[in-house]
Amino acid sequence: MEETEKVKVVVRCRPISKTEVSQGHKVAVQCSDEEKSVLIKSEKFDERPRTFYYDAVFPQSTDQMTVYNIAARPIVENVLKGYNGTIFAYGQTGTGKTYTMAGDLEAIELRGIIPNSFAHIFDHIAKCQHDTTFLVRVSYLEIYNEEIRDLLAKDGSGGHLEIKERPDVGVYVRNLSNPTVENASKMQALMEFGNKNRKVGATAMNIESSRSHAMFTVTIESCRNGLVTQGKLQLVDLAGSERQSKTGAEGERLKEAAKINLSLSTLGNVISSLVDGSTHIPYRNSKLTRLLQDSLGGNSKTVMVANIGPATYNYDETLSTLRYANRAK
Ligand code: ADP
Ligand code: MG
Repeated sequence: MEETEKVKVVVRCRPISKTEVSQGHKVAVQCSDEEKSVLIKSEKFDERPRTFYYDAVFPQSTDQMTVYNIAARPIVENVLKGYNGTIFAYGQTGTGKTYTMAGDLEAIELRGIIPNSFAHIFDHIAKCQHDTTFLVRVSYLEIYNEEIRDLLAKDGSGGHLEIKERPDVGVYVRNLSNPTVENASKMQALMEFGNKNRKVGATAMNIESSRSHAMFTVTIESCRNGLVTQGKLQLVDLAGSERQSKTGAEGERLKEAAKINLSLSTLGNVISSLVDGSTHIPYRNSKLTRLLQDSLGGNSKTVMVANIGPATYNYDETLSTLRYANRAK
């Protein structure tokens, strides 16, 4: 991919599942990694097939390492040099956001972007240790219903955190756990701890985890010849992008739905304003974009991985994701 661009959008399509095949669903999308295109066709006669182009396209068969190398590696390299970088997974629930970001920890080749970035970071540190010292810290939070929760809080008490701002540190979350880590396995253990904290809520209310944004942050400070640099990597598994009106939400649920839609549409507006070079970037319109304020724009690099499912019954949601991703360009 072009190295000069600040915001890149890639599309990843997951394979059709056995259940979908057994229910007779057909494949509605054709992805080409060479042409970096996605063609989508409806089952309706009067709708023409449409083709969209992105910075990269990952067809169904693409493995986790290829996704890491193309989409994530350049961002992490940049963070190791002292810049900020953000990687998002966007898409309808069930299209592979968590598979892309966290993956399956049982097997090395199934690991997603987050654990692969841990390995990459600590490999780099091992190589530079003769002349550089590093300090690595992580935090892991969830934004649910515009409320910030600390996923690394020990006693499950990490709710209702506040966003603060200070001239010297910028935007930060008050009282958020921010442990230092010395190796990739400690970092992975913290990620798993945080994921479990996310799941406690998810079983109580089943769909809760698909309605929250999970943000894993790695801060890397390095010191070489007395020169200190700091880079920040934000790894974000976004809430499901499905239209909440279709899920029959009412009352409190509908209010939550409105907040998810607001934060995802604000994110889309922020990214397209950055791409257009606008001077007013609407960071303040949601907690998600407010927290990412110093990691989007400026010298930061951003990659949005838009995840889609291949089956015909998801046509409307897939088209909506392809359009969102296209607009982010
Ligand atoms: P989301 O987080 O977007 O709701 P998940 O990551 O949980 O979606 O993925 C839904 C299901 O599809 C999971 O069972 C996951 O293992 C599977 N899956 C997603 N993407 C892929 C892929 N690229 N290859 C194989 N299985 C995948
Ligand atoms: Mg998920």
